[in-house]
Amino acid sequence: MICITSIQGLRQQISQERRKSHSIGFVPTMGALHEGHLSLIQGAKSQNDICIASIFVNPLQFNNIEDFNKYPIQNEKDIELLEKAGCDILFIPTVAEFYPSQPKLKIDIGLLDRILEGEHRPGHFSGVAIVVSKLFHVVMPDKAYFGQKDIQQVAVIRQLVSELNFPIEIVACPIIREESGLAMSSRNMRLSSAGKDLASNLYKCLCRIEKSIKISADWSVPVVKKNGLDFLNQFEGIQVEYLEVVQADTLEAITDLKPKSAIAICIAAYVEGVRLIDNLVIIL
Ligand code: AMP
Repeated sequence: MICITSIQGLRQQISQERRKSHSIGFVPTMGALHEGHLSLIQGAKSQNDICIASIFVNPLQFNNIEDFNKYPIQNEKDIELLEKAGCDILFIPTVAEFYPSQPKLKIDIGLLDRILEGEHRPGHFSGVAIVVSKLFHVVMPDKAYFGQKDIQQVAVIRQLVSELNFPIEIVACPIIREESGLAMSSRNMRLSSAGKDLASNLYKCLCRIEKSIKISADWSVPVVKKNGLDFLNQFEGIQVEYLEVVQADTLEAITDLKPKSAIAICIAAYVEGVRLIDNLVIIL
């Protein structure tokens, strides 16, 4: 694997690959890699000639400075994991290289910026849209791989690619979970083992909601939400930020559960001071 820290170096390497007519699959990450990230690498490798990953903890997308400062960094281990997974090129710039000056640009995504994560993390998706646009401009991959774990991020990137005409196919990959059901996340490293057990109730809650929707003919969104919240609120160590029932593609709130439609249940909650998100898409 070739590790590159400068934008110019990456551009040079990519033009060499393009001269060989190699197709490029790209996996942007913030590092502290786990099997969820590695599943995206597998996807990129299997569908393209070369796989490029990036590791960059993007300050612009953190609305909370403490969260940014506590974000786990383990570059050496990540490089080993990527080598083992067969990644071809790693782009790992410093903040000074990537943002020589503080970007003045802001990207307003519209509705997606005001609901769910957008509502609770002001500026987050503008930061995501800027970093991903910059990365796309440099890498110009054929396909880029994102996890469904960040379902709203996938929707934001699809909108970005469509409205700005990036000639890039966005591939959304399934959520990889621990055996307990806990969605893998770099932030899980900040949880104690009891905290991880507690956090696995987020997925249990999603599964209970799915089951209750599938066995009952009498669906009501407020009841679905109340049952989910009642389940989570019985655990003292879980502080729910939101639990919403939304359309799976647009992520807009829904009032009725219509047969054959695809919905997503989205949760954000704190466990041991760590903010966790999870979701489940259900076809009715
Ligand atoms: P991050 O490093 O958290 O920015 O994540 C980089 C990419 O990995 C994003 O597209 C995430 O959605 C994806 N990802 C993170 N956790 C998981 C997971 N448990 N399963 C699948 N993809 C994931």
